[in-house]
Amino acid sequence: MLLQQGIFVFICNIKKTARQHLLFMNTSLRQLFLQHVAQTSDAPLQLEINRAEGMYLYSPDGQRYMDLIAGIGVSNVGHCHPHVVQAVQEQAARYMHLMVYGEYIYYPQVQLSKLLCAQLPPSLNNVYLTNSGAEAVEGAMKLAKRYTERPEIISFKNAYHGSTQGALSIMGDELLKNKVRPLLPATRTLHYNVKEDIAAITTQTAAVVAEVVQAEAGVIAADAEFLQALRKHCTEQGVLLIFDEIQSGFGRCGTLFAFEQYGVVPDILLLAKGMGGGLPIGAFIADKKIMSSLSHDPVLGHITTFGGNAVCAAAALATLEVLLQNNLMAEVKEKEQCFLQYLQHPRIKAVRSKGLMIAVELDSFDTVLQSVQYCIKNGIIVDWFLFAPHCLRIAPPLLITPEEIQTACTIITKSLD
Ligand code: PLP
Repeated sequence: MLLQQGIFVFICNIKKTARQHLLFMNTSLRQLFLQHVAQTSDAPLQLEINRAEGMYLYSPDGQRYMDLIAGIGVSNVGHCHPHVVQAVQEQAARYMHLMVYGEYIYYPQVQLSKLLCAQLPPSLNNVYLTNSGAEAVEGAMKLAKRYTERPEIISFKNAYHGSTQGALSIMGDELLKNKVRPLLPATRTLHYNVKEDIAAITTQTAAVVAEVVQAEAGVIAADAEFLQALRKHCTEQGVLLIFDEIQSGFGRCGTLFAFEQYGVVPDILLLAKGMGGGLPIGAFIADKKIMSSLSHDPVLGHITTFGGNAVCAAAALATLEVLLQNNLMAEVKEKEQCFLQYLQHPRIKAVRSKGLMIAVELDSFDTVLQSVQYCIKNGIIVDWFLFAPHCLRIAPPLLITPEEIQTACTIITKSLD
């Protein structure tokens, strides 16, 4: 009897497994995606992509999409750049994970840090590699507090610095914070590009975190005078000035880093996104004298298991080599002008740009949504901004050609007819 029951259960289990297998075979990837992959909006794009190369993404049924957002400012050197892919493959075959945060010596990390520092002013000479942009923000905030022994971090209205709780605390918009309070105390936001607000930065302030170009606000570039006044005041008050170039860096604005266009040097520079050419990596970079406050009193000022992982570091080194060797920054301004020339339509209220970081201002979020949907149907991927939902986001790989710009703009303007 017991044996029969056992056999029955066994057969039922086999049938169940077979049913699940059949269900899996018959269930589309889209259904499985909706069932098992966490979503953060109730209207995910649901674009199914199975290959990407250069400027383009490809769906399984062969539809080609021109990527005008570069995975939100990531694929500056294009998707699957052969030099980056080769570096990743070679590194993966050699070793992947050893141990990071400045303990073991390994080639891709050392060479990446050296090459990065060689592009920067002498005071930015020491690199802490992280997993992401938000982790770079967190590390830099902690570094500033440790170094200055002060409590306060100041940021700006409409700033986006990431989604972890420290980074959220200095976000310049309240809506996304409200459900997760309490956040960090001793944070304040000032008005961006308003010189009068700078006086609110005092000797209680450890650091001021500023984007050189506010991305999610809909591409608001800093005024040179504002950044210079900010630098001067921070120096006078002994406050560390942190530039978040996570979105504006790696050639996006026409120079390797946007701050180079302002004659202002930060105390700490934050990088990520385009840095890894598609793999996750970020960094906070400072003078060794500042950075060394992570190593004592107490030790281990910032710890990360994977930050600067060997494969990601190799990808970042290869990405930087591609940017420098091909001088991809050199044509960015020309391509920006191309966009400005073709983005003409009575329904476009304004176009703001800094290199290939472009916001096309329309009359409402509804118009933006309609335009995004039309563009995607016609093979062009555009998006909007977190704090400027009435603006279309354009931030293509830097490789985009003038012909591709014209094609893309024709479809964008048609979407507004
Ligand atoms: N800072 C800026 C300016 C960003 O645009 C982002 C991401 O969009 C971040 C920080 C956070 O980077 P990550 O998403 O890698 O944590």
